[in-house]
Amino acid sequence: MQETEKNKPDSRRLWKRLMLGALIFCLCVAAGAIGKLALAKVLPRKHDAARTTVQTESQTDAKKQKKEKESAKPATPAQPPTTQPTQPAQPTQQTQTAQTPPSQTPPEQNKPKPIPYLVADKYFTNLRPANPATPIYDRYTATERAELGLPVELPDIEPYEEKKVAYLTFDDGPDLTNTPQILDILKEQGVPATFYVVGWRAEENPDVIKRIFNEGHAIGNHTYDHNYDTLYSSPNDFLWQVLHTDEILRGILGVRPLIVRAPGGTSGMFTDAYWTMLDAYGYTEHDWNVCTNDATEERPDAARQLEYVDVQTNRPKNGDAAIVLMHCTSDKTETVKALPEIIRLLRSKGYTFGVVTPMTPQPY
Ligand SMILES: [Zn+2]
Repeated sequence: MQETEKNKPDSRRLWKRLMLGALIFCLCVAAGAIGKLALAKVLPRKHDAARTTVQTESQTDAKKQKKEKESAKPATPAQPPTTQPTQPAQPTQQTQTAQTPPSQTPPEQNKPKPIPYLVADKYFTNLRPANPATPIYDRYTATERAELGLPVELPDIEPYEEKKVAYLTFDDGPDLTNTPQILDILKEQGVPATFYVVGWRAEENPDVIKRIFNEGHAIGNHTYDHNYDTLYSSPNDFLWQVLHTDEILRGILGVRPLIVRAPGGTSGMFTDAYWTMLDAYGYTEHDWNVCTNDATEERPDAARQLEYVDVQTNRPKNGDAAIVLMHCTSDKTETVKALPEIIRLLRSKGYTFGVVTPMTPQPY
């Protein structure tokens, strides 16, 4: 009995424990199911989010690569760009890259500098920068334009109408002594200029050509050898030298000029056939209306050169556009001396400074 009576509470306790155990089990199972369900709802979102992030990054990478590819496109006309770029900038980019490797440059210094020139598009529709101090170049040579079926001749152009713009032009260089000194002065004064360079000198001094270009000055074509006898024996001889010099400049810079200056000037040298030929090949020629006479037999000193500029800029026509002829070869040391004073004089007369482009008004 005692045993039976004792057993009764034991069996009740056991039963209670079993019930409690079952309840806990059920609760665990239910909790597990709820947890699983909750996880199942959350996890796919996380995966989706991860997938979205990856896609965004890969899309960004693809865009980046596309951009890099586009910017790395060579400035050769073999694969003309599908868009109409205003800034091919291959030479400048190369120079900037060489000077400031992106990996070692703080982000704020790594911003691309504004490119101080314009490159003609395929159809010459963008030749009119707002600022007359913006040089204009072409990525295609005239021969390549003809081969690709692109326009070679420039469209009808309205010249700039800005008043009192002085165009300092330096012919016959570049050399390794006076041209760099002239560039130093121009940089110090913040004045742009135009350098009509000779092909064989460009071949000899490509670094000076690059410096002229990168410092925002215009480069013009002044033929290959500057030899009057050859140049003025026939339009074709003149043309060959211009085309050859363009090839040399494009080889150095990735672009070539659209402006030409005839050695000695066109007066008495050019026949109608020369003008027709230059037009057909898309070149614009500018002579000058102010001259320091630094290449004449007189060999004027710096003070006399300044006087010439002063007197000649008093002529009414030259008050609109003063195209000033100077030279930058190694014997023109008086020109280097006169230059800061010439700039000061022109400023005091109210001139601003531009570079020669196809839109520059003719000097007479
Ligand atoms: Zn010359």
